[in-house]
Amino acid sequence: MSSDRIIFSRPFRAARELPNVEAVLSSDHSHGDGPFTAAATAKLRDITGAPHALITTSCTHALEMAGLLLELGPEDEVIVPSFAFTSSATAMALRGATVVFADIDSATGNLDPESVAAAVTPRTKAVMVIHYGGVAADMEGLQRLADTHGFAIIEDNAHGLGGYYRGRPLGTIGTVGALSFHDTKNVHCGEGGAVLLTDEILMARAEIIREKGTDRARFLRGAVDKYSWQDIGSSYLPSELNAAVLDAQLAEFDTIQNNRHRVWNTYAAALPDWAARNDVQLMTVPSDREHTAHLYYVRVPTEHRRDALIAHLSQRGIVAPFHYIPLDSSPAGLKLGRTPFPCVRSAEFSSTLVRLPLWPGLTEEQLTRVVDGVTSFTV
Ligand SMILES: *Cc1c(COP(=O)(O)O)cnc(C)c1O
Repeated sequence: MSSDRIIFSRPFRAARELPNVEAVLSSDHSHGDGPFTAAATAKLRDITGAPHALITTSCTHALEMAGLLLELGPEDEVIVPSFAFTSSATAMALRGATVVFADIDSATGNLDPESVAAAVTPRTKAVMVIHYGGVAADMEGLQRLADTHGFAIIEDNAHGLGGYYRGRPLGTIGTVGALSFHDTKNVHCGEGGAVLLTDEILMARAEIIREKGTDRARFLRGAVDKYSWQDIGSSYLPSELNAAVLDAQLAEFDTIQNNRHRVWNTYAAALPDWAARNDVQLMTVPSDREHTAHLYYVRVPTEHRRDALIAHLSQRGIVAPFHYIPLDSSPAGLKLGRTPFPCVRSAEFSSTLVRLPLWPGLTEEQLTRVVDGVTSFTV
């Protein structure tokens, strides 16, 4: 029965969403940068400790802003993990930069510094990091390379709001951090995102890029008496309607995270014996990182058995999908990218991974069904 189906992800609903949206609709201000944008932005700065935050229409747009801020062009290369979401690559290719694919570390699914070192050229202007599942990448290894070669680090932190690497909030370690508020992410407003910055000069420019190339943000603060065209840019600011939902969600961030961790911890406690018996690798978190319970995944030895596990769960009404298809072998990756050496670990990671349902409202009964479904499968 479809009502019994345990879906993979269900967007959280926050108590203040409807009242907030009502307040926007009954005001005379529903375009961007109103009071809910200010309130949501302040909460984001609070959660991340970022000195500067700008909410945007999506994470993809936040990454496009990163490309504009770093002044990427056709002469430049950006190293991107092969195991990644398309936005990480396409936002760079949109600026004309060549995407250079590097391999991941199989322990976390994150960009491997050694692979980056092998892919660096004098044209490398930036490296794109994804903290897969909300588990931080090896930022120290990457920062060491960035210091040696002088490239910027962009953090695609779509999964990692509230996560830490050695005590440092994810999204604030690199030159630019990007967040997603798509409704499959921990915190959402339907579609939305944010840019996190520490550098004041980049922030001044980011405000302009986000507002159609104008200094309207300065005008709204009363710093100039009219606003004018200053630079290239686009319309990357979300409406107050989105900001109203986002503010309601961020107000309940701790509740969202506690419930996601409850689900994550249930899987982590229930599956080790089954994993050991079946040669399955469970998601792990290195001890110097605090994850965000964005995903819980298991890795089965072969693609064939992985597909069998997905089918086994589906028969029991449990939706458990695989994830990214490696970008280096995708049609656009072949056309717009360069792959200096085969990304073997990325291909293997992609073909053996299954994600289990993870959302705050999962009941103990549903979790028991998922655990029973998984542990009744023999690899
Ligand atoms: C969801 C996601 C994006 C894109 O986010 P949007 O807000 O939908 O643009 C980018 N990168 C990663 C890693 C994602 O998971």
